[in-house]
Amino acid sequence: MKFCYKFLTDINFEPSCIQPCCNVHGITVPQFEFHGGAVNMKDYTKFIEECLENIQSGSSICKGCPELYDIDESKLLGKIISTKFNAVSFNMHRYLCNCRCTYCDLWKKNQVGYKILPALKSLQDQSVLQDDCFFSWGGGEPTIQPDFEDTSLYIASISKQQYIHTNAIKFSPNISHLLSENYAKINISLDSSSPKTYKAVKGVDAYNKVINNIIEYRKKSSDTAIELKYIIFDMNNSISEIESFLVFASRTLQIKNVQFSFDFREVNKKAISYTSLLAAAFFIKRAKDLNLNPIPFFVNLDILKKIIKIQL
Ligand code: SF4
Ligand code: SF4
Repeated sequence: MKFCYKFLTDINFEPSCIQPCCNVHGITVPQFEFHGGAVNMKDYTKFIEECLENIQSGSSICKGCPELYDIDESKLLGKIISTKFNAVSFNMHRYLCNCRCTYCDLWKKNQVGYKILPALKSLQDQSVLQDDCFFSWGGGEPTIQPDFEDTSLYIASISKQQYIHTNAIKFSPNISHLLSENYAKINISLDSSSPKTYKAVKGVDAYNKVINNIIEYRKKSSDTAIELKYIIFDMNNSISEIESFLVFASRTLQIKNVQFSFDFREVNKKAISYTSLLAAAFFIKRAKDLNLNPIPFFVNLDILKKIIKIQL
């Protein structure tokens, strides 16, 4: 039978539904209508079981997804009803952001997400979170979501780890506290190393504020708790911009992990320029020279092969 293990292990809160994944493959994902409050796990489990039946009979749900595998049905017996999640993702605030990135359309809707704490407490009360369950804040921008502070503190209070994608325009004392207690890691897409490029790429004049906030966060965190990301495209792919970004990460912040990615519009059209691929090759080499770990973020094998072929 066709099956995806995310049905058993992952739950993802979207602005008007719950899904087993956050749909990075652009597929028709199972969507269980949800607008906040408690999650009725009995109903959600029934919904997933119905989706599975439909998938077997060739419905469009999950069709073409590389994560849909053929498995031996006997191995699955009873597992759906004993679902326990090990990954919970928050994207109900997907359309709420104080940044205006040129490669992103999400902020244009400008909608606040529903409060997530009641949903989270209901999962905990129904004992459907594994001991090592991991929480991830996507977005939108979580620090301006109304119950971010309460919810992230609650996650720490039940001794679970969380990974927070933030643009760091707003300083969050709560994030600083969670970093100091080793309860969180954060990921910031800086995409630049100067106020001019930042404003061009991110659409707001906030470079200095963001840099100051990152430096404040770093004072309370380990060298692996902050990850800086650089989405490479034609507005920021100069070697000098990337060199300054990496030197800032290495010498000023003294962090370990730097991610690189590409503008998804170009990825989907298979239109990444040679200059951007060259910039990525430089990113990897120079990061290693500076004792940083360069990490590809949703970079597929074909693109990686092209980057590796480039001789510097
Ligand atoms: S098969 Fe793919 S689209 Fe469907 S739930 Fe799994 S990861 Fe998501
Ligand atoms: S910070 Fe994230 S959600 Fe906000 S505009 Fe940029 S890419 Fe979009």
